[in-house]
Amino acid sequence: MAINRYDVVVIGAGPAGYVAAIRCAQLGLNTACVDQWREPAGRASLGGTCLNVGCIPSKALLDSSHYFHLLTHQAQEHGIIANDVRIDVAAMQKRKQKIVRGLTGGIDSLFKKNRVKRFTGRGVLNSERQVTVSPVSDGDDDLQLEANSVIIATGSVPATLAAAAIDQQQVVDSSGALSFEQVPDRLGVIGAGVIGLELGSVWNRLGSKVVVLEALDTFLPAVDREIADEAFKLLKRQGLDIRMGAKVTATQVADSVSVDFKVGDANDTLEVDKLVVAIGRKPNTEGLNAQAAGLKLNARGFIEVDENCRTNLQNMYAVGDVVRGPMLAHKGSEEGMAVAERIAGQAGHVNYATIPWVIYTWPEIAWVGKSEQQLTQEGVEYRTGAFPFIANGRARGIGETGGRVKVLADAKTDRILGAHILGPQASELIAEVVTAMEFGASAEDLARTVHAHPTLSEAVHEAALAVDDRAIHF
Ligand code: FAD
Ligand code: NAD
Repeated sequence: MAINRYDVVVIGAGPAGYVAAIRCAQLGLNTACVDQWREPAGRASLGGTCLNVGCIPSKALLDSSHYFHLLTHQAQEHGIIANDVRIDVAAMQKRKQKIVRGLTGGIDSLFKKNRVKRFTGRGVLNSERQVTVSPVSDGDDDLQLEANSVIIATGSVPATLAAAAIDQQQVVDSSGALSFEQVPDRLGVIGAGVIGLELGSVWNRLGSKVVVLEALDTFLPAVDREIADEAFKLLKRQGLDIRMGAKVTATQVADSVSVDFKVGDANDTLEVDKLVVAIGRKPNTEGLNAQAAGLKLNARGFIEVDENCRTNLQNMYAVGDVVRGPMLAHKGSEEGMAVAERIAGQAGHVNYATIPWVIYTWPEIAWVGKSEQQLTQEGVEYRTGAFPFIANGRARGIGETGGRVKVLADAKTDRILGAHILGPQASELIAEVVTAMEFGASAEDLARTVHAHPTLSEAVHEAALAVDDRAIHF
């Protein structure tokens, strides 16, 4: 069998893999990328989880449902009379799919532009430098690729729960919950994490009665406590019925789904039309032949890497969800870029301390750096400044006054250690603090930066001023 030789072979074309491949090609490396993703109808599609069934389709539905909710709940306040507002789920799904197709097709164009060779099929490791492409279509032959360096970016898949087996009809994972053909009257969600809250919000805004069962007693434990507590109240007020400390013990599927769960010692049952299981994701190394190639995985199935994303094999790297760290598209892309640069002899680098997180509920929740509870635990002395959106002119203008901005700074040096935002456009506002932290800024640096008026960003400015107890408008 003929062997195709490349400088770099990337396995996986999600945001970690396709970015790595494009960056390698930009740096003059002869690069191939192997990906096995197929749409349900069989069409090969680049972009991985993020573009096909993750970040992009979920945000498309969040936006559609947000507009629907504005029209049904807030339009009147603006003097807008919107009668007979209805949702056409098929049209909403068609719009979502058009966005996905546009972006996944865009990666194909970027591959062509940058001369990344695309292979459709499963990448199977033969050795440190040899990959077999096993085509997904019957009848096609295997291909052999050889490379100086291999980058694995095979991503993650939904974690499963024995007590709630997925059938993608009534008991679904996140992909199923992105594709409902009608608004379920009653929707159950297992897991009050990022996916549970985002997709729970979509269907809640469109009219489902949503109950979220969360096993833990603490809501969003990774989020700053004050912000998480306020978010909990706002989401509850929107109609998300979040039950904490709820452990699912069994489900029965008939015309509807019965979910048996326990809170403490009390047994309870929930009757829903659809049930979404959103209890986390696990690294995807299935079919990769990792062990036979001598590639080391840890006990939880993640590929083991050092701080430079190098595996135990000298010429093999791994990036994105399949390695340690947050399962976020931008984290994977940054790793992909850094690894490409290292392979090309440059000094690629990822600053894990300034990776922003966003939960796209409304209001949005966004943060970077440390929370108050982390700083307390680590014994770091800090000062805090907070500013509520109710005191921000622009927030009042758009009628979005819930939430706050909170800035945490080192008590001695004033260096910014973290920022936490619950509010409108928090996803965009956090970027300013990420940049400030990248430059090692102090809270005073932010406080002395001129912010346009009237903008939501003035709340960030005021929170920075508040660190030194000198906020003007609160
Ligand atoms: P993936 O995107 O999972 O891509 C891996 C690719 O590798 C896939 O195409 C897969 O088919 C392919 N592959 C696997 N094994 C092989 C093999 N052996 N051979 C060939 N190909 C293979 N993150 C955010 O930052 N922001 C968000 O708003 C956000 N929203 C999300 C919403 C949902 C509903 C979900 C499920 C996830 C969301 N995420 C979000 C997480 C984000 O999608 C992931 O962090 C990101 O996709 C990980 O990128 P990756 O490249 O590591 O892996
Ligand atoms: P998650 O880790 O965010 O939340 C899972 C939740 O399920 C947790 O609160 C956990 O305590 C709970 N849980 C676990 N087992 C349970 C059980 N048996 N019963 C009830 N609750 C249980 O995971 P997710 O929401 O599935 O999302 C997976 C990952 O995808 C996220 O961690 C994130 O990295 C990524 N993602 C990111 C975004 C974003 O950036 N906006 C959006 C969606 C997904």
